Amino acid sequence: MHQRTRIPTSGRVHQELLDEMAGFADGDADFRGGRTWSMVYYAGDSHSELLKKAHNLYFSTNGLNPMAFRSLKRMESEVVQMTAGLLNGPSSTVGAMTSGGTESLLLAVKTWRDRARTRWPWIRRPNIVCPATIHPAFDKAAHYFGVTLRKAPVGEDGAVRVEDLKRLINRNTILIAASAPQYVSGTVDPIPQIGQLALSKGIPLHVDACFGGFIQPWLERAGVEMPVFDFRVPGVMSMSADAHKYGFAAKGASVLLYRDMGAMRHQFFVCADWAGGIYASPTIAGTRPGGCISAAWAAMMAMGEDGYLEMARRAHDVAERLRDGIEAIDGLKILGQPHSTIVTYASDDPDVDVYAVADWLHERGWATDRQQSPPSIHCSANAANAPVVDEYLSDLREAVAHVRAHPALAREGEAAMYGLMAKIPLRGLVGNTVRQVMAEMYSPGAGEVDLSEQDDALPPWIRGHEDKVHAALDKVASVRKRLRRGTV
Ligand SMILES: *Cc1c(COP(=O)(O)O)cnc(C)c1O
Repeated sequence: MHQRTRIPTSGRVHQELLDEMAGFADGDADFRGGRTWSMVYYAGDSHSELLKKAHNLYFSTNGLNPMAFRSLKRMESEVVQMTAGLLNGPSSTVGAMTSGGTESLLLAVKTWRDRARTRWPWIRRPNIVCPATIHPAFDKAAHYFGVTLRKAPVGEDGAVRVEDLKRLINRNTILIAASAPQYVSGTVDPIPQIGQLALSKGIPLHVDACFGGFIQPWLERAGVEMPVFDFRVPGVMSMSADAHKYGFAAKGASVLLYRDMGAMRHQFFVCADWAGGIYASPTIAGTRPGGCISAAWAAMMAMGEDGYLEMARRAHDVAERLRDGIEAIDGLKILGQPHSTIVTYASDDPDVDVYAVADWLHERGWATDRQQSPPSIHCSANAANAPVVDEYLSDLREAVAHVRAHPALAREGEAAMYGLMAKIPLRGLVGNTVRQVMAEMYSPGAGEVDLSEQDDALPPWIRGHEDKVHAALDKVASVRKRLRRGTV
């Protein structure tokens, strides 16, 4: 496709433009047909139409200055308070809306870092203790704000052990973070025990309920067994919950909550001496699109408790059917615990390469979310997937049979790359390679490069040498195994 590099000399006719743009989506993931298992939270056309109208009503407004648009301040406060109620926050609970889970987590880290600076000014190298499954937005926050993460391992059930977290805490720890649930395999961390640990150490605990904030409460009401995960746990000092996930708001909406203003005051940024006036900003963004706030407000009002409960039940039903179906497929196993609507599966048969399975599913039009350590496939279940669960399972059965019959597939297509990338022990090297791919994607003229070829994603030193690298990695693995058994 020809990539445009200049603004057209004269403006074009609106309808013609819209038609052209609609065509851009031809190769996109099919979320309406339920073929995505992440990324889109779709509550049907009628709900989407409401979101668009609500978004439109405040389309041009700006949440930067709450005095100019009291409408937005009011809706934001109500979204915050309704979310606080959902997560059992005490009456002192305060918070703000952000553009998404990542901004909420960036802000939470910044807030707790700044609070630590006043409270424990001698800490020079602050760290956050968390499970290895914590969302990478924490790594991003740590990278941006000069904090390090100390990560405790989790087992295949996705659970972190409190003793492992405890061992990592030292005098530089400013925050403990955990998830409800973690995205990788859907396990809710043992928040009550972690809360106790946090209290005993006098360190705040942030619960990342970006994924679960708007569904775990309903699953709990529907009788799903899970640890208590919210402000009912005394050590929980802040929480994040994404309205643009199971809150079925428009994208660009997350809620960050604090137990009280004592913490949140460290979130605000004020520049008192700017020539343009005193500049105060509650979140990371400057200009804040009002439509995201009004659509989130509308979503919560339109859904109501009964609507959310119903959507949660349907998503849970999809997850259960998926889990049962996958468990019945020889060669696959489910990871994590069934606390949420996440279904993650891996292979337990050396002849079934899960990345080759992913390639096969992808060819059948399923947007497939590949994970590593262990290599696995992630599905976030939603009501929208209900009509296609059986089709997915039948495709998956076929995929497994096909991959088992053709073991060479593991070394072809994307499977080869994902397999290698997951195995390479030098993660810095992998990071650099991916950064290089991004640099290429964002270079001028990148639109003309056919990235679907994915050849660029292969590190240059691997291209053409895949078999040798595999052999070397196998050798390393076998030496490791022998070392462990003491036969070297
Ligand atoms: C989605 C998610 C995030 C990040 O949210 P974005 O909206 O993608 O920025 C953080 N934590 C968890 C557990 C998530 O599922």
